Amino acid sequence: MTDPIQKKIEELRNELHQHNYNYYTLDEPTISDFEFDQKLKELEELEKQHPEFASPSSPTLRVGGEITKNFPTVRHQFRMYSLDNSYDFNDLEDWEKRVQKAVQEPVEFVAELKYDGASISILYENGKLKEAVTRGDGFQGDEITPNVKTVSEIPLQLHGDFPEKFYARGEIYLTRKNFERINKRREEEGLDLFMNPRNTASGSLKIQDSAEVSRRRLSSVLYQFISTETPADTHWELLQKTKSWGFRISEQMKLCRNLEEVKEFISFWDTARHQLGFEIDGIVVKVNSLSQQRTLGYTAKSPRWAMAYKFKAEKVETELQKVTYQVGRTGAITPVANLKPVLLAGTVVKRASLHNEDIIKKLNLHEHDFVYVEKGGEIIPKIVAVNTEKRKAGSSAIQYIKNCPECGTELVKVEDQAIHFCPNELHCPPQVVGRMIHYVSRKALNIENLGSETIEQLYREKLVENPADFYTLTKEQLLPLERMAEKSARNIIDGIEKSKEIPFEKVLYGIGIKHVGETVAKKLAKNFNSIDDLKNATVDELVQVEDIGGKIAESIVAFFQNPENILMIERLKSYGVQLERGENTNELISDILDSKTFLFTGKLSLFTREEAEEMVEKHGGKNISAVSKNLNYLVVGEKAGSKLKKAQDIGTIVILDEQEFLDLIKK
Ligand code: AMP
Ligand code: ZN
Repeated sequence: MTDPIQKKIEELRNELHQHNYNYYTLDEPTISDFEFDQKLKELEELEKQHPEFASPSSPTLRVGGEITKNFPTVRHQFRMYSLDNSYDFNDLEDWEKRVQKAVQEPVEFVAELKYDGASISILYENGKLKEAVTRGDGFQGDEITPNVKTVSEIPLQLHGDFPEKFYARGEIYLTRKNFERINKRREEEGLDLFMNPRNTASGSLKIQDSAEVSRRRLSSVLYQFISTETPADTHWELLQKTKSWGFRISEQMKLCRNLEEVKEFISFWDTARHQLGFEIDGIVVKVNSLSQQRTLGYTAKSPRWAMAYKFKAEKVETELQKVTYQVGRTGAITPVANLKPVLLAGTVVKRASLHNEDIIKKLNLHEHDFVYVEKGGEIIPKIVAVNTEKRKAGSSAIQYIKNCPECGTELVKVEDQAIHFCPNELHCPPQVVGRMIHYVSRKALNIENLGSETIEQLYREKLVENPADFYTLTKEQLLPLERMAEKSARNIIDGIEKSKEIPFEKVLYGIGIKHVGETVAKKLAKNFNSIDDLKNATVDELVQVEDIGGKIAESIVAFFQNPENILMIERLKSYGVQLERGENTNELISDILDSKTFLFTGKLSLFTREEAEEMVEKHGGKNISAVSKNLNYLVVGEKAGSKLKKAQDIGTIVILDEQEFLDLIKK
């Protein structure tokens, strides 16, 4: 029999490994950093008391779980402290009194937004970005320079009168808009959605491929500059100076002559924050005078000259009416808590997302429980806890469903993922409708006027069940539908007709092969002349194509093994939909580039990356995706980073700017 302590230790280890995986690999933590730390501490304690159960693979050996082995670890020359928190004005007044007592002279403050992202420390030497390091445990962090260089707001080269060597500290974050854009793309590609902008930003910084980081379009703001000789007397003045060196500092900052002004700033942003394009979780108040800052110094954890004021996540209690389950267009099941309507942060809340089965279990949610609902970083409110005192005697725990609520099919759980799926892709109603909506979407067959509501109606009337059915629709069938006028019916029919001209690559994207997003579809269309060629390709052949991994390849092969898909494809072909590569897509304009290899890096301004790659191909060149000895030309736009350096190091690569590239093909 296993010792109960050993069992507990192993359980904790497994749990922490899973959370590490969720955090680093999936970028989707299911517990807060605080909860993670609690568990880690518990494990550390047990391991200390029971050294006989030590293990070389224990998560406790990874310093707070913060340092991955993938990036070099760098010690901070100046420690990265955290901030003391205050939650009300009393706390803040107490802090001001302590400050006053220590400095014995009038004190000014700077009030700043507390950006909710990941902090970063960037070393500049002689005006050049040298090295960027995450906070890690405050003493040492991960060196993630290539990733940070993708953030367009961070200058690579400074101008003006800057100190020879200094550290710029700030926050990397994601705007709400970019967060939604990323999730929309993930939804289209059938991937799990990210929880909130903050975790997505910090997760993004730890991605190995900086090209993917660049696609996330991270933002940044800098708020502290550390050097041995500081060229200013106050924090405010220093920040203004750094602006002239090329840094982006926050637009929403206030120089306050007293604490009253600080409080006004806080009260204003407590409500106005909801209108910002990004998320903040509080206000940071700093003593303005740098000499006063030096007098105040640091505690073991944080500067005495700064204080964070945390906004309260608004929280209310309400009753759970029932849990229902939504089936997404990709088959993912989302449990939803239906709540007794309640007012929260200015809106009436009736539902809260429960995300997945694990979360329901962790809450230990029972029928008709009273729950606390919070609107935190997440877009949809969430249940943070249950008020067990109000639990009715005899009420039973919520049982997760076993079958799809829409089609009855038994649900499946993908290994290592918390989410359940309905595997009945071709006949589960929301998935059927989702597939057709995807088919007509702008980036696919772009059938205008055929909206999701119309498709839902057509499906209910049993007029369409898969994309091929669109091509047999008649105006007479459309007219009886709700709110369908003669003119819109004609537009739909015309739109469907016009979609027969849409090129192969977009059709390939439109037919909805799992994991085949827009970019993958393009790559496939370049490498396979027709749908039949693709149908005959094996996994081994598919993974030869740039950017196609095993998961995508297997999904493609599985798609073509299904006779219903083959039937749909044959029907689409018979209606004249483009299932072969058009002549013009690979037509050569010249072969002046003579099979030479090209790579584009940095911010391009004369053409887009796609246009550039197309030009290369049309002139007989080849695009490759990494700097190596095989590369002939590197074309650099603005703010080119590590690729340029690497190319220079190799020495045999011709480096061109955009105009020089155009000149080359104009010859
Ligand atoms: P905490 O993580 O709660 O200890 O808060 C400290 C963190 O707040 C820092 O490590 C920064 O990442 C972050 N932060 C966001 N905005 C600011 C700001 N304007 N000044 C200082 N720290 C900030
Ligand atoms: Zn189903």
